[in-house]
Amino acid sequence: MADGTGHEVVVVGSANADLVVRVERRPGPGETVLGSDFDTHPGGKGANQAVAAALLGGRVALLGRVGDDGYGELLRDALALVGVDTRALLTTPAPTGVAFIAVGPDGENSIIVAPGANARLTPADVDPAFLAGARVVSLQTEIPVETVLAAARAATDAGVRTVLNLSPVPAASTALLGLCDVLVVNEHEAGLLLPGAARTPAALLALGPRAVVVTLGADGACVADETGETFVPAPPVEAVDTTGAGDAFTAALCLRLARGDGVVDAARFAVRVGAAAVRSPGAQASYPSAEDALPG
Ligand code: ATP
Repeated sequence: MADGTGHEVVVVGSANADLVVRVERRPGPGETVLGSDFDTHPGGKGANQAVAAALLGGRVALLGRVGDDGYGELLRDALALVGVDTRALLTTPAPTGVAFIAVGPDGENSIIVAPGANARLTPADVDPAFLAGARVVSLQTEIPVETVLAAARAATDAGVRTVLNLSPVPAASTALLGLCDVLVVNEHEAGLLLPGAARTPAALLALGPRAVVVTLGADGACVADETGETFVPAPPVEAVDTTGAGDAFTAALCLRLARGDGVVDAARFAVRVGAAAVRSPGAQASYPSAEDALPG
C-alpha cells in the first residue's frame, strides 16, 4: 500500500450510499406507503468525516472498502472531488454499503443500513505504515470492531493521536476506550456507555480516554479533560437538516487537533462547523469550507 506520510488526518471507516425517500408516514408491518422521488447521496460516517475535513482544507485520506458497483464509483467520485486521498480505499467484490433512509414529515429519519463492503474491512487491511504518517487517526464504529481496534493499536504504537467517535456504540467497547486519546459521543451514546450513572463527560473519562467530548446538538458540546469540564456553546442557527452534523463536528475537531490545538480550542471550532452543517439539507452537501464556517 502507498506510503501515508503527510496526511493531517487518516480516517479509518465506512462509506455508504444514502438512498433517501420522503414519506408522509413510515410503513407499519406488512404495509406499503408511497413516497417522494428518491435521492442518492454519498454518505457513511468515515466518508462524511473525510469529506468534511478535506473541505476545511485538510490533507486527508480514507482507509475503507467499497464494492465494485455504481455506488462505489459514486463514493470515490465524491471523495476525489474534494481531494481526499483514496489510495487506501479498497474495492471488494461485494455490494457497497447502503443506508435506506425514510424521512418523515417531522424530519425524523428511519434508517436501515446494509453494511456490504464495510463489513469486509479486516484488521489485515489496516496498513500500519499508512497510519504512521498521519497526525491524527479518526475512527468510528460502522466497520468491524476488531478492525477499529487494529487501527487504534497501529496508531498508538506509531505515536499517532487517535480520535474515536463511538457511533454506533458496539456491544464491547472497553478495549477501544482504553486505546483512544479523544472520545467523541453524542448524549444518547454517552447514556449507553454509562447506564444509570451520572452521564457527565467527566464520568466517561474513567473509561479510559485522555479527553472526552460530548456533543449536545443545538447546545454545542462539553469537553472533559485533566483540567475539568468546559462547556462550548454552538452559535444559534436555523436548523434545516441535522444529518451528518456529528460527522462535520468530529472532522473539524480532528483537523484542529492535527494542527496543534488543544481539545477545548478544537471543540470551539468544531461547534461552528457542526452548526454550519445544519443550515442546509444533506450530509456532505451541507459541509462548509473553512471560510464558510460560522464566525466564532
Ligand atoms: P447527527 O447524528 O445528526 O449527525 P449527532 O447526534 O452525532 O448528530 P449532535 O450533538 O446532534 O451530534 O450535533 C453535533 C454538533 O452539530 C453540535 O455539537 C453542534 O455543533 C452542531 N449542531 C447540531 N444541531 C445543531 C443546531 N440545531 N444548531 C446549531 N448547531 C447544531
